[in-house]
Amino acid sequence: MRKIVIAIDGYSACGKSSTAKKVAEILGYSYIDSGAMYRAVTLFFLENHITLTNDKEVAKALQNIDIDFRTSRRSAHNSDTYLNGLNVEREIRKMEISNSVSQVSSIKSVRGAMVNQQRKLGRKKAVVMDGRDIGTVVFPDAELKVFMLADVNIRAERRQQELFERKEVISFNRIVKNLKMRDEIDTSRTESPLRQALDAVVVNTTFMTLEEQVDEVVNLALNKILA
Ligand code: C5P
Repeated sequence: MRKIVIAIDGYSACGKSSTAKKVAEILGYSYIDSGAMYRAVTLFFLENHITLTNDKEVAKALQNIDIDFRTSRRSAHNSDTYLNGLNVEREIRKMEISNSVSQVSSIKSVRGAMVNQQRKLGRKKAVVMDGRDIGTVVFPDAELKVFMLADVNIRAERRQQELFERKEVISFNRIVKNLKMRDEIDTSRTESPLRQALDAVVVNTTFMTLEEQVDEVVNLALNKILA
C-alpha cells in the first residue's frame, strides 16, 4: 500500500497531537511531535542559561543537544521525548516551558537544526507529524496537509484539563494568555511563521470530539493512500 506523509499544522492546543497520535496508531504509522523537539531545546536553553540573543552561545548549545523519541513505558502506542538520553516528557509540558518555547523557536538556527532532524525522521514516509510549519516548510510535498483551528476558550479548557491531569493547576486566564501569546509569536515571526498551506484541508475542532477529529483525518488519509 502507498505510504504517505501526513502534516498536521495549526494553532496551539487545537487537538493536533492527540489526533495525530491516534491517526498514526490506526494507520500503523510513526508519530512525530515536532513541538516536543522545540520544547526540549527550550528546556536545555533554560537549564543552561543560554542567552537567546547570543548567536554563538545558541549555536554551541545546539551542538550539545540530542533529541530522540522512545516508546513510552505507559503504553506501546505512546512515545516519550528524550533530551541527551534523559526522559524529559513531563518537564517539557510544564507551563514554564510553554512560556518560553515560542521565543526559542523563532531563532533561525534553532529552526534549521530541528527541520533537518524532522526531515530525517520522515524520509521513509508512513509518518504523521504535527507542528506549525510541517506542511509549509518541513514537508511541502506532503501528500496530506491538515490545518487545525478552534475557538481559544475551548482550546484553553482542553489545555487546562491536560495540565490538571499532569497535576499542574493553572488558571484559565493564564492559559488563554499563553495560547494567545504563542499564536501571536508563531504567526508573526520571520522564520517559518505558522501559515495555512494553500493545499491544506482546514479542520475546525471547536465542536468536534477527539473521535470525530481522528475519523476525519483517517478518512482524508485513506483517500490519499488508496487513490
Ligand atoms: O505543539 P506545541 O504546542 O507543543 O509546540 C510548542 C511551540 O513550539 C509552539 O508554540 C511553537 O512556538 C513551536 N513550534 C514551532 N514549529 C513547530 C512545532 C512547534 O515553532 N513545527
